[in-house]
Amino acid sequence: MQTRVTVLDESRPLEPQLRHAADTLRRGGLVAFPTETVYGLGANALDRQAVLNIFAAKGRPADNPLIAHIASFEGLHRLTDEVDARAQKLAEAFWPGPLTMIFTRRAQVPAELSAGMDTVAVRMPSHPAARALISLAGVPVAAPSANLSGRPSPTCGRYVQEDLMGRVDEIVIDGDCAVGIESTVLSFSGPEPIILRPGAVTKEMLEQVIGPVRLHHAATENLKEGEKAASPGMKYKHYAPEAHVILVEGPGFAPFVRDKLNETTAAMCFLETANELPEGAPVFPYASRSDERSQGARIFTLLRDMDKRGFTKVYCEAPEKSGVGLAVYNRLVRAAGFEVIRL
Ligand code: AMP
Ligand code: MG
Repeated sequence: MQTRVTVLDESRPLEPQLRHAADTLRRGGLVAFPTETVYGLGANALDRQAVLNIFAAKGRPADNPLIAHIASFEGLHRLTDEVDARAQKLAEAFWPGPLTMIFTRRAQVPAELSAGMDTVAVRMPSHPAARALISLAGVPVAAPSANLSGRPSPTCGRYVQEDLMGRVDEIVIDGDCAVGIESTVLSFSGPEPIILRPGAVTKEMLEQVIGPVRLHHAATENLKEGEKAASPGMKYKHYAPEAHVILVEGPGFAPFVRDKLNETTAAMCFLETANELPEGAPVFPYASRSDERSQGARIFTLLRDMDKRGFTKVYCEAPEKSGVGLAVYNRLVRAAGFEVIRL
């Protein structure tokens, strides 16, 4: 398949630059596009065959549902008939933005979008190009991250091209993603709303609007043997480079890792920790210890870099499991296949 690449020029109006991609979506084609979280691989969410083509292009397991992206509340009403009062409040507070909410799926919405579940995940992204593209297409746009299944999510156009050239109709590129990790996923299936995937909209931020919210234990630990995944994405090894990633928790990362670093073994850690390690050692700081948002914006780029630089083993200093740090932890522990060393 011939893939058209469109690099957006910020100095010119967006809509004419996106018209071709919007037509492609409307015709049932696949278009990768930027969002504020990570790049998405989009298709018309109401077109069953287009949705199936997303799974094929990514090599995504058919039981891992997709998020439908909308540009207005009209889009939400094409996907669900029931909007919980709490969801309404959260939408007013955090949409457009990195929050996905789970609703009851309308019968007209293809079951394949939701991997057969009777619910549908919906998000209104804030990225101007994403909003313009979805508006122009005039349909909700199903879009998982624009990577081959299992690999780190792409936070810049180059990584989308690496994974998807020749597999999709069009790739729209517009610089680096500001948030860098996928959206928070929130479900209302129980008495208390539950975070299925932590993201940049934190538990504390949600609670300020609707009161107590629970965090699913799979956010930080592996599902138990035989446990059913509330969100199928929970059960897969995810976000992983080729290199063997080991997450290291607790104080004393620098002394622990110092003697292990060499041509094939690297460290990813906080800036402060990097300063404790020898100059010239393969040490890749992801951000300052307290700057969780920058950590989020950097981790996927760094994970991809590890393979490019030829490292086969990476020790990774674990972030705090609070605020946005929890989301960063969640991605890293999956990249590590839940291999954690506690110091
Ligand atoms: P991705 O778009 O690749 O970042 O993955 C979407 C995430 O949302 C996965 O973890 C899915 O399991 C989750 N998800 C999507 N739809 C639903 C749903 N209807 N119920 C629960 N989780 C969902
Ligand atoms: Mg993904």
